[in-house]
Amino acid sequence: MTGLLTQLADALTTGAVKCVDLTNTLSPDFPVIVLPVEFGQCAPFRMEPVSRYDQNGPAWYWNNITMNEHTGTHFDAPAHWVTGKDLPSNTVDAVPAQSFMAPAVVIDIVAESDADADFVLTRAHLEAWEEKNGRIPPRHWIALRTDWSKKVGTVEYLNLKDDGAHSPGPDASAINFLVHDRDCVGLAVETVGTDAGQAQHLEPPYPAHSILHGNGRYGLQCLANLDQLPTFGAVIVAAPLKIMGGSGSPLRVFAMIEGDA
Ligand code: MN
Repeated sequence: MTGLLTQLADALTTGAVKCVDLTNTLSPDFPVIVLPVEFGQCAPFRMEPVSRYDQNGPAWYWNNITMNEHTGTHFDAPAHWVTGKDLPSNTVDAVPAQSFMAPAVVIDIVAESDADADFVLTRAHLEAWEEKNGRIPPRHWIALRTDWSKKVGTVEYLNLKDDGAHSPGPDASAINFLVHDRDCVGLAVETVGTDAGQAQHLEPPYPAHSILHGNGRYGLQCLANLDQLPTFGAVIVAAPLKIMGGSGSPLRVFAMIEGDA
């Protein structure tokens, strides 16, 4: 297999392979998930200047930053959920480097999500999707395109009502199918969680978190630009920060796609 990386290097140089940034900008006003009031809450991104070519540092600029592990575009490790708490290599520092790059299949549920913010993706829907588009290959990220990222900066992104958040996500039948029948790497979404906004009412509650992480699979949340990816053929690069024992991490995520050059 010699020459494979040379081909990739050439393709990156000529633009035959293009990189698409799937990351939202980390800023203090980027929304974070809101849990019921009895639970601890996710901290937003905070940024405090240390110096900017001034008396605190005449020739240098830098900031101190703080955030939750699940703030902004971020990665969920299996240890994030109680179902994954005893798995090997379940924290971000232990995720094998080989898992940082994986192909993706993009499942477009924009119309369904537009029609119903509480759209629940089922196994039946995925099987119908496969009839039309082809079988979901093994060891792929399942990227759920909802165009939800286009709502960033509006109240419709979190879509909080008196009874909590309203955003689309899968049920247990869909996740069991993707994990056990299609051997997915994980679920990659544009919303603040891999689960639907009202997933506390599903069985089991939060089926995406529960089943993905209980089976050593990963989550990617708050992605952008999924509308720029082909249904098949993109490769996602997602390497979380190496936080000791960390449950997740903000990160830069991008996809490599074949360009026109
Ligand atoms: Mn998370």
